[in-house]
Amino acid sequence: MNKCCDAKTLLKQNNLKITKRRILLLEKIIDSGKCFSAISLQEKVENNMDLATIYRILTLFLKNKIIREILSNDTTRFYELSCVHNPVHPHFFCRKCSRTIHLNAVEDDYISQIEKMAGDNIVEDINIHLAGICSQCK
Ligand SMILES: [Zn+2]
Ligand SMILES: [Zn+2]
Ligand SMILES: [Zn+2]
Repeated sequence: MNKCCDAKTLLKQNNLKITKRRILLLEKIIDSGKCFSAISLQEKVENNMDLATIYRILTLFLKNKIIREILSNDTTRFYELSCVHNPVHPHFFCRKCSRTIHLNAVEDDYISQIEKMAGDNIVEDINIHLAGICSQCK
């Protein structure tokens, strides 16, 4: 991701009040480009925010689909920015080096096929997760 949305625009688009903390956090998320966790964000804001505040803001961003949750393990939840510059794509998790690889975005046709499988259920998130051994580890 090179050029991306700016934090203020994303908040405005989602009718969210613009606060210093939300802007700061969202800017760090946009800067990070790839996936992040609450802990990795806290390091980026140089511990100016407690984790409870970060989680509260992340929950709000999730609800408004500014971010999406990806590949969470037992201890950490990982997220990534969800905007036009970063459409839904599968993730490959390497079991050897624990690296997460962001694969190419999937076709809209494919997404609607998957959504159809849900039938009457309402799809809020699609998470395609592949796991194995990456090209560097094999
Ligand atoms: Zn963007
Ligand atoms: Zn690997
Ligand atoms: Zn990704």
